[in-house]
Amino acid sequence: MSVQNTREVYASLKKIISGSKFSLAKQGECTSSFQTQAKAEAQNRSCGDTLFLHWQVNSENQCRVAYSGDHCALCSASAEVLCEWVNSSIEQFDQSLSVVESVAKSFHTIRLSPDSTPDERINTQIPRLEVIQQCVAHMPSRAECAALPWKAASQLIGERPHD
Ligand SMILES: [Zn+2]
Repeated sequence: MSVQNTREVYASLKKIISGSKFSLAKQGECTSSFQTQAKAEAQNRSCGDTLFLHWQVNSENQCRVAYSGDHCALCSASAEVLCEWVNSSIEQFDQSLSVVESVAKSFHTIRLSPDSTPDERINTQIPRLEVIQQCVAHMPSRAECAALPWKAASQLIGERPHD
């Protein structure tokens, strides 16, 4: 899909957030069988976003990454896209540092030149990332909102417990 205007930007973000599977605020942390083992925090002062990314494990030793915090729609949607991608191949999370860092960087590249073509390798690997990149191209001043979850992810890779 291609985002054409601000209204469509918000509609596409809303679509991602309304189907969110990895927001702890939506699930209620108490009702989840997953427990947080490690947590990374990232802040964006220009918008007021605070995002926590959680490395969680349940009693069957299954792992997942989830998010919480107080953040805007663009940050939430970007976190959802990140978690969806990480959780689909969680065993490769530790090896994904360079991809995570290059995605965070890509939002700043888009901010500086909104008409640039985002890295195609990143686009094809991560479902729905293109939607977030298109939103940033329409709202370049909000690049940091989109980058925040990916910055937290690069921290989390270093902080999570290893077995
Ligand atoms: Zn924001």
